[in-house]
Amino acid sequence: MSELINAFDMAQSQFDHVADLLGLDPEVGEMLRWPTREFKFMIPVHMDDGNIRVFFGYRVQHNDARGPAKGGIRFHPSETLDTVRALAMWMTWKTAIADIPLGGGKGGVPVDPATLSVMEKEKLCRGWVDQIWRNIGPRQDVPAPDVGTTPQMMGWMMDEYSKLSGEYTPGVITGKPVGGGGSLGRTEATGFGVIYTVREAMKHLNLDPMESVAAIQGFGNVSQFASIGFSELLGGKVACVSYWDNADRVPYTVSHPGGIDVRYLISITDQYGTINKDKALKVGYALEDGDEWITKDVDVLIPGALEGQINAETVQRISDRVRIVAEGANGPTTPEADSVLAANDVFLIPDFLCNAGGVTVSYFEGVQNDYNYYWTREEVLERLDTKLTTAFDNVLKLSSGEGVYMRDAAYMVAIAKVVEAMELRGWL
Ligand code: NAD
Repeated sequence: MSELINAFDMAQSQFDHVADLLGLDPEVGEMLRWPTREFKFMIPVHMDDGNIRVFFGYRVQHNDARGPAKGGIRFHPSETLDTVRALAMWMTWKTAIADIPLGGGKGGVPVDPATLSVMEKEKLCRGWVDQIWRNIGPRQDVPAPDVGTTPQMMGWMMDEYSKLSGEYTPGVITGKPVGGGGSLGRTEATGFGVIYTVREAMKHLNLDPMESVAAIQGFGNVSQFASIGFSELLGGKVACVSYWDNADRVPYTVSHPGGIDVRYLISITDQYGTINKDKALKVGYALEDGDEWITKDVDVLIPGALEGQINAETVQRISDRVRIVAEGANGPTTPEADSVLAANDVFLIPDFLCNAGGVTVSYFEGVQNDYNYYWTREEVLERLDTKLTTAFDNVLKLSSGEGVYMRDAAYMVAIAKVVEAMELRGWL
């Protein structure tokens, strides 16, 4: 994200805008525009070379009126307390819009996990839990994976918490590996969820999915499954994806005139979402600048990488053909760009609705952990589809009824639910 765009400023500005529209009591607004609790802690790690490296970890619990705080842990070099605050706040709205009984939280460590050995990663994960375990738990705050963290890391973290608390506690963390307390369908949940909402938007706009073309930013967990979903569930074409090249330290856009072969590209992509460009070039793919995905002549844009990617400058480069922006990533669009999209009548599926599939299946994972009984992949995905379609319908109804932008409508639905829970608990 550009240093000029502060994610937490953006999250507060979006919230303030809708608080105004709703005529929200300023005292309630003040309680919601800041996190309830914030933790910053040191994690010293004995590295493979014998030296000690000091990392810093964060955990922010934005609001837990509707249930335990919930949200991922991000390992990324540009992680800051403000990005974690913003992401925690967006989680509060996400769990509310998906109507699951959880609040909002987020965690992180500023680190590039690609630079660590497996042993160092395990020590960092266990160290993160050692510092914060008294303030997380199945009834307090339940972390999950996010950018740079994996199911295996969640397995180590769950194990560390279980050791410290003295009992096997799978419900402390979600996104665990299947067979280690994880849920079937969790890996594809966010990307497929994005596509369920795109499908509903296309119905609303009378667009034929089989005739539609998408450009996607990122090629990690969210974007890979959004790409599979777009091509295999909807029958559309993916013109290009972009990714961060770990060797060259720059982003690239990878395209193919006939559309990309998603399964092939996945087969040549590493665990960090970096595509093997030499192999792609050899079989006829074109390699362009990392920003080019946004300029493509397509019907659907899916930003699925990082915050602030559609901003005052890049929004001007979007083709007139684009009808839908589906926010797979968290916070990919700045408020300035939102105004341009709204003026151009682009249909926006806002992040905390569009990418709520991950947290919804994380919630299903917690339910299965509590029952100690596990559902089939089909059951999980069917329940996910029902939840997201209902959430989408609720937001669309308000947006159409009140004539407000989809992001504002989503905020209105979510804020009303959180405020209701705060009132019912006697906080207001
Ligand atoms: P990931 O680490 O698996 O993948 C990130 C991808 O983005 C990689 O392909 C990487 O190469 C690419 N990337 C990084 N910087 C880039 C740049 N400047 N230009 C182009 N590509 C770039 O992460 P993910 O889990 O797929 O998460 C992506 C986004 O979705 C994040 O905003 C995350 O918070 C959000 N999200 C993730 C989930 C989930 O379940 N994983 C759920 C909800 C929201």
